[in-house]
Amino acid sequence: MSEDHCTIGDEPKPPYAECVLCRKPTEYPESYRGITLCPVCEWQEAQRTACSG
Ligand SMILES: [Zn+2]
Repeated sequence: MSEDHCTIGDEPKPPYAECVLCRKPTEYPESYRGITLCPVCEWQEAQRTACSG
C-alpha cells in the first residue's frame, strides 16, 4: 500500500467564464457562447422556471 502524495497545488486552471449573476467561476469555458451560470444559480434558475408553470 503506497499512497501517492502528489503535491501539485498550483495546477493551472482553465479559464472559466464568470457566472452572470454572482460572478463566481462556472463550469463553462470562457469561450462559451451564451449565458453562463454557476451550478448554484443554474439550479435556482431551474427552480424558478419549474415553479412558474
Ligand atoms: Zn452564480
